[in-house]
Amino acid sequence: MSTRKPHSAPTAPAVTGYGRFAPSPSGDLHLGNLRTALLAWLFARSTGRGFLMRIEDLDRVKAGAAERQLADLAAIGLDWEPEVVQQSERLALYDAAIGRLTSAGRTYECFCTRREIQQAVTAPHGPMGAYPGTCRELTEGEKAQRRDAGRPAALRLRADITGFEITDELHGRYRGAVDDLVLRRGDGTPAYNLAVVVDDAAQGIDQVVRGDDLLPSTPRQAYLATLLEVPVPQYAHVPLVLNTAGQRLAKRDGAVTLRDRLALGETPEYVLELLADSLGYPGATSTTGLLTQFRPENLPREPWTLDPDGLRQPSTCP
Ligand code: GLU
Repeated sequence: MSTRKPHSAPTAPAVTGYGRFAPSPSGDLHLGNLRTALLAWLFARSTGRGFLMRIEDLDRVKAGAAERQLADLAAIGLDWEPEVVQQSERLALYDAAIGRLTSAGRTYECFCTRREIQQAVTAPHGPMGAYPGTCRELTEGEKAQRRDAGRPAALRLRADITGFEITDELHGRYRGAVDDLVLRRGDGTPAYNLAVVVDDAAQGIDQVVRGDDLLPSTPRQAYLATLLEVPVPQYAHVPLVLNTAGQRLAKRDGAVTLRDRLALGETPEYVLELLADSLGYPGATSTTGLLTQFRPENLPREPWTLDPDGLRQPSTCP
């Protein structure tokens, strides 16, 4: 019996996994965010992967920001698979993962305030700044006392290591600190490090391309993935965009969002050309054109320093 589906496209290459961009909807994306999104798209599409968009709205949400971010990403020529997920609608998934870790004896309640953690000395054998484990061995009586005092408890991972190594496409082998990281905050919100691991696994994402400011968090996430028995994705942490003072680009640096640039009379194609130029591909005015040229191994390893007032004239300008 033939099983051929009438609408299948036998010549289309099979999608082998997914890349993604996962913005926090706290405001408009700036050129640094757009450049990272473009790179995530290029890495995914150039390796035959699908591309997913995930709105990380567990905190820092500004009304309407997610829609504006998606519109800007589409305007510069990115596309993604239809369903855009929002973390705020996936709380049951995070709860289930926390439940699995708790059943395995891998979590504990932490009643420390932020101030107490800052004041506490680092654990004797732990990395600098690591949570010192103050609440790790509280007795039931001690916990009850703290609860009665009205202290909201966060839930922490009971880590059994202090460091974990990952491999990054751009940074090579990278070892970073792992401590008893927060899985659920005192206000009940799942922590970013947990949500990102759960989502990447649940969405079939096997390639994570993002700014290299997140590289230090990655060993924690990879370790968490191993505890949750889900695959550790391939990582590529890409250089950030800096302002002329050498700091991470921010909105206060001037006309740095797509809308700011359009208001100056530029087009989305021009903005894409600027981004492509910064990646070593001058003259590319479409993402599809850029895709045919893209070679991850040729990517600049240094940050792109941007002076929004001094951007060059594009080749597409008259
Ligand atoms: N939502 C994070 C951000 O906008 C990105 C997290 C990630 O890519 O893993 O900075």
